[in-house]
Amino acid sequence: MPRSRSWRSSRSPPGSPEALADSWLGAAWQAMRRCTVCGREVERAAHCSRPTVHARGVPWLGNDAVNLLSSAAGGIVAVLLALAFGL
Ligand SMILES: [Zn+2]
Repeated sequence: MPRSRSWRSSRSPPGSPEALADSWLGAAWQAMRRCTVCGREVERAAHCSRPTVHARGVPWLGNDAVNLLSSAAGGIVAVLLALAFGL
């Protein structure tokens, strides 16, 4: 597990809109790269002292972009819930 992902998960409670958006965005859209030496999927541009190749996801959608989008999504859901329940 990359350190940045566990940091994100621990920040938002499980089941919160942020955590749900984060896991969905991360799983479906976040750019992942593959090491050509050991074959592991990584988030870094290099692994095993070799450049990695793009494996899946949106190439420019890195960890920071996923963080930003999931926070925004959480905020939007919170506002919609507040409006729906008249809070
Ligand atoms: Zn490697």
